[in-house]
Amino acid sequence: MLQYEEALARVISAVPAPASESIALAEADGRFLAQDILSPIDLPPFDNSAMDGYAVRAVNVASAKLNSPVRLRLVGRVAAGEKFLGDVTSGTCVRLFTGSPLPNGADAVVMQEDTKADGAAPNEVFVLESVKPWENVRFQGEDIKKTATVAAKGDAITVGRLALLAATGNVEVAVSRRPTVGILATGSELKEPGQLLAPGQIYESNRPAIAALARKAGAIPQVYPLVTDVLEATQIALSNAFKECDMVITSGGVSVGEMDFVKRALAELGGELQFWKVTIKPGRPFVFGRLPCSPNRLSSVDDKLFFGLPGNPVSALVTFLLLVRPAILRWQGASNVALARHSAVLAEPLENPGERRHYMRVRISTDGKCHSAGTQASHILSSFAVANGLVDIPPRTVLAAGTTVEVLRWD
Ligand code: AMP
Ligand code: MG
Repeated sequence: MLQYEEALARVISAVPAPASESIALAEADGRFLAQDILSPIDLPPFDNSAMDGYAVRAVNVASAKLNSPVRLRLVGRVAAGEKFLGDVTSGTCVRLFTGSPLPNGADAVVMQEDTKADGAAPNEVFVLESVKPWENVRFQGEDIKKTATVAAKGDAITVGRLALLAATGNVEVAVSRRPTVGILATGSELKEPGQLLAPGQIYESNRPAIAALARKAGAIPQVYPLVTDVLEATQIALSNAFKECDMVITSGGVSVGEMDFVKRALAELGGELQFWKVTIKPGRPFVFGRLPCSPNRLSSVDDKLFFGLPGNPVSALVTFLLLVRPAILRWQGASNVALARHSAVLAEPLENPGERRHYMRVRISTDGKCHSAGTQASHILSSFAVANGLVDIPPRTVLAAGTTVEVLRWD
């Protein structure tokens, strides 16, 4: 049996190098960059005004006060998107708006609220307040310098990065491909929701939940029909999924019972079992395998990954989060494949009396306190439904109320 860290390292090292494609930036939200992006321009591209107001020489208005205004001659007007061709000379000013380029000769902007126009003298402006040199000026390149790295290979294109990439003029970006992930559920007791349950049957719930988590991780999920507990049926279903997908995820059929056919079906197809069983709870019987697809076996580039999750719904989802999600992310070249970690203080004790580390379902409330999400057995979905995190509790450990814990989040 493997420790979690070793299992994860083995999964990650089996993930093939990402392949890249070029897509429109507008479509790139949530994708991972396949190369560093350097800015071809300074951002902002030119010094400009942070306010609606007047471009001045700060020294000219140093004495300006409400009761002793400084009078300046208005020599021009520059809307955002225009360029003033003259200079701001001593005793003059130019009307500006937010984003207007700062005219030559000016070194500050007096905001409109600190001025008074004289209706009788439209070419005069009274300044009621002094400004410091460069006040209300946004400098060329202060956000991003030309040739600076805007975002690095492996970075997720978050909404903020998407805006920055657009602001630096990118139309298309090279991103890593997304894996198509086949999702199957094995179990002769499983019924599609919407149908009548015969005695002994239950509704299947793993595929939609795994598909949702896979999609959140950037994969393209492909859900396959239910598979009965028959070796041949399992083999055919796996074979179909491997033909169409980059990775295949099954649930159920990986324990030690004589009705557990997943490992055998993988072997019959020529797949290699990389490991089976990880010392975590829930999720011990997790299977990781590979289907070699490269004809000459010289490279593993085309190998397809196989994940056999336990059938119990919570075991399936927790092992997905801990061992499959990182592989899906790394397949897309993501540099960070770990779940987000938030510190929180336990509102009540959490106890793991067992011999395996237990990833317990918890809920962090808005005040930052961490509560147990309820019953922790691996078939109990109602606690998973209200959980928003997992806490990794070592074997034979009681964490007292008030302990600060690291909560793994997926929401
Ligand atoms: P197994 O890993 O196949 O031995 O299944 C363990 C438990 O999980 C059994 O109680 C199954 O009925 C249940 N189970 C397996 N697959 C699913 C599924 N896709 N949806 C809901 N429950 C499942
Ligand atoms: Mg089963």
